[in-house]
Amino acid sequence: MVSLGLEDKVIVVTGGNRGIGRAIVDLLVELGAKVAYLDLSVESGNDKALGLVADVTDLNSMEAIAKEIEEKLGTVYGVVANAGITKDNFFTKLTPADWDAVINVNLKGVANTFKPFMEAMYAQNAGSLVAISSISGDRGNAGQANYAATKAGVIGIVKSLARECARYNVRANAVAPGFINTEMTQVIPDKVRDKITAEIPFRRFGEPADIAWAVAYLLSPVASAYVSGEVVRVNGAHHT
Ligand code: NDP
Repeated sequence: MVSLGLEDKVIVVTGGNRGIGRAIVDLLVELGAKVAYLDLSVESGNDKALGLVADVTDLNSMEAIAKEIEEKLGTVYGVVANAGITKDNFFTKLTPADWDAVINVNLKGVANTFKPFMEAMYAQNAGSLVAISSISGDRGNAGQANYAATKAGVIGIVKSLARECARYNVRANAVAPGFINTEMTQVIPDKVRDKITAEIPFRRFGEPADIAWAVAYLLSPVASAYVSGEVVRVNGAHHT
């Protein structure tokens, strides 16, 4: 029998209450990890994981929560910066508030999520950081200039951290999902959804579990020990 080597590893997932984050939490629990998930609300999350209320835009509270997780579960091995929001509009109609909100959660939020855990990772000489990017960050998307900028930005973060952290045996990678069936994509009008589906060679949106498996691969010290600074695209061949 082989395993991904995630048994008893302490792994933190932001936005883990629902959607893609929830699927990541569920899979990591199945793989034997000790999982903490952080979200604005944690009422409906996986009851085999530690749910903590947190806002990724607030670095001070993320630092306090990092201490709490370490006390309750032990030193963190893996961090998945998954929490994200959209405030879509055509570029000329995007307001300063739309820019700030998306940058605060999707870009600064990723930095705020990784930073509080990294010194301890360095000290234990092991760790894996995973950010959830997007097909929009990779190829752009009309109506999503603010969102795409943050999702391209997190690729810059993980590529830089990959170089910075390698000496401590800490890896940093991103997963770039295509269109995935979650509440985030439920707001897409049917006509637009049909048009997008027609562009996807698999002729369907992906499922949250498709992203969870890519994340588990990148977290695994067995499967991806020499993989860092990479972007794994999971998009049904929509953009390659
Ligand atoms: P959802 O909207 O379904 O879930 C997002 C989760 O993040 C929610 O639980 C939400 O909490 C939480 N969250 C939002 N803001 C914060 C915050 N400030 N602090 C902590 N948690 C927060 O999104 P998805 O599951 O679809 O998306 C997950 C990630 O994947 C995002 O980064 C998204 O950009 C990315 N992605 C999604 C794609 C898709 O097609 N679905 C495609 C490409 C990328 P609450 O429930 O309280 O709102």
